[in-house]
Amino acid sequence: MTYEDIYTPLENLKIKGLGPKTLEKLKILKMKTLKDLIYNFPRAYEDRTNIKKIKDLKDGEFSVVCGEVMRTELTRTRTKKSMFKVIVKDETGFFEVIWFRMPYLKAQIKNGVKIMLLGHIKHGMRLNMLNPEYRILEEDDVVDGEIEALYNLVHGIKQSTLKRIMKEAINTYGDLFENIIDEETVKKLNLQNRKEALYNIHFPKDDKKIYRAKKTLAFEELWLLECSIISKRYELNLKNNERYELEDKKKLVKKFLEGLKFELTNAQKKVITEIYKDLNNGLIVNRLIQGDVGSGKTIVAVIMLLYMVENGYQGVFMAPTEILAEQHYLSMIDVFNNLGIKVEILTSSISAGRKKDLLNEIEQGLSKIVIGTHALIEENVKFKKLGLIVIDEQHKFGVKQRQRLREKGVLANLLVMSATPIPRSLALSIYGDLDVSIIDELPPGRTPVKTKWIKDEIEKETMYQFIENKLNEGRQIYVVCPLIEESEKMELNAATKMYEEFNERYNKHKVALLHGKMKSDEKEKVMREFKKNQINVLVSTTVIEVGVNVPNASIMLVVDANRFGLAQLHQLRGRVGRGEHKSFCFLEAEIRNEISEKRLKIMEKINDGFQIAEEDLKIRKSGEIFGTKQSGFSDLKFVDIVKDIKLIKYVRDEVINYLEKNSGILKNKYLLKDLEEKFKNI
Ligand code: ADP
Ligand code: MG
Repeated sequence: MTYEDIYTPLENLKIKGLGPKTLEKLKILKMKTLKDLIYNFPRAYEDRTNIKKIKDLKDGEFSVVCGEVMRTELTRTRTKKSMFKVIVKDETGFFEVIWFRMPYLKAQIKNGVKIMLLGHIKHGMRLNMLNPEYRILEEDDVVDGEIEALYNLVHGIKQSTLKRIMKEAINTYGDLFENIIDEETVKKLNLQNRKEALYNIHFPKDDKKIYRAKKTLAFEELWLLECSIISKRYELNLKNNERYELEDKKKLVKKFLEGLKFELTNAQKKVITEIYKDLNNGLIVNRLIQGDVGSGKTIVAVIMLLYMVENGYQGVFMAPTEILAEQHYLSMIDVFNNLGIKVEILTSSISAGRKKDLLNEIEQGLSKIVIGTHALIEENVKFKKLGLIVIDEQHKFGVKQRQRLREKGVLANLLVMSATPIPRSLALSIYGDLDVSIIDELPPGRTPVKTKWIKDEIEKETMYQFIENKLNEGRQIYVVCPLIEESEKMELNAATKMYEEFNERYNKHKVALLHGKMKSDEKEKVMREFKKNQINVLVSTTVIEVGVNVPNASIMLVVDANRFGLAQLHQLRGRVGRGEHKSFCFLEAEIRNEISEKRLKIMEKINDGFQIAEEDLKIRKSGEIFGTKQSGFSDLKFVDIVKDIKLIKYVRDEVINYLEKNSGILKNKYLLKDLEEKFKNI
């Protein structure tokens, strides 16, 4: 057998005790291949060296207790949390065990059941354990080993069964699991060999072995990711070395800056300098520009596009929605035309005839700047000499789309812009193939948007009155309807209903509806009219979330705001506060839970996008962070991308070291196989 066989489906292997029934159960638990099985790690361990009698339990100590259930009760706390209380006894006494939010335990944990509990002892009113790990002891269970793994299970498969299968699999096939980390690094960091680590994680002799196994496997999963990210970076630079040339002409850029009505902020200047340096040092630009909503990212991109065009290249500006592409197009067309540069828009809604001509012009290099949506990455779009790709609101695109576009240009310099800022260190690790620039300053004269959480009907009425007054003063407002993930149709219905309601309420004013299902020319028409102040109230779905710029709109009302994440609310709020008028953001939410309440309060208190991002990280699980889904960072088992940021940086540096030594080429064939498998489905 060879290394590849770790990806063999379980049914094709001979593992004693693994019959068709159990195979089905394993599939439910997402174990299909040998690797899935062996990489199904224990959720906890029973340390049986530590089994205590109830009379010896001490406040604060982590303990393992075996006993018999003598009473159970399912109730609720004052805050309506479900609470399952159990009294457990052994021959020395009894104590109380409580599980919150796990009412289903009632079906398993019944009077007379023998149970093992692992958790911290608390001495409150009486001795108890809160939310402990537990295991129901079967007849044939012998409680005498030392440390035993506990796995997640589904109905119909027992701990003992899974453990037996695991042992068989590891004894028979464990040797297939070769190191993917290079030997030198394994030694230097005192890691275990992979085979050893896998054995120890399932069948540990002591705590120390578990610790080292975990450390090894954490390192391994990051090693895999960072190798993929950073080797791509090397590949790119290698390809680039031969052909990169710029004359460094700057006349048009100067002219553009002179015509500008405002001064660039220092932060904008700093970022422009950073990009400029890369370009003129013969490096390929590969940069994430993070800046809060309204910090002026567009103009940085425009200046760089201009610079590239002036120096003989074409440029692309890609936006996530047609509305946004159109808006960018309209705001750039005059600027570029005045400088004698041809700029075009390419979306999926332009006519076939026009598209054909346009594709020709692009291929011949006549169109210098093309603004568009993902239509830009279709196969048939070919550039003569593409020099710079700008991706706006990058979190709305996938990693793959980014790469696809990149493959188009020989010189594919790349700027990706994001207004969902995350701390720099985190960005570096997640978007490890990108450098990071930050625009950490807003243009002068902005007054922060006043944000208010609207909690009930009374507050709602006051708000409606307030909005009416603002409408009478000539302001415009956005009303954003909740995103309904389960169903686009429901989302549309909700938006339509909302539209009718507002149309009635504000019948002296023009109310319009905008949603994702409308044809693009209809959408554009509505947006154009809103821009021209021919529409006063725009009721929409989240299609207006990013980038839209209408300075006279000074109120943002988000309906059912509890359905949105912080980053999204901040984006939505960013649609207002763009002009001279004092702006307001109302977050309507009657239903509340702990997390949404926290979110809404943060929104009321904080206006700075970076601060919001940090707060967001604190209340979210890291797997949910924007942009991480497709990056491979969301399925880490031993690493938390927020808490383990130091480790991530450390591994990153080790990988860079390793690649430096190997001229940027990954040579470990086991590693290459794992990478192929990992990214096969992304
Ligand atoms: P975002 O970073 O959210 O994409 P934009 O690029 O759309 O922000 O800029 C928001 C607004 O700020 C635009 O109307 C733009 O013209 C204006 N702006 C950009 N830079 C400056 C500056 N240095 N001074 C004043 N206004 C600016
Ligand atoms: Mg923008």
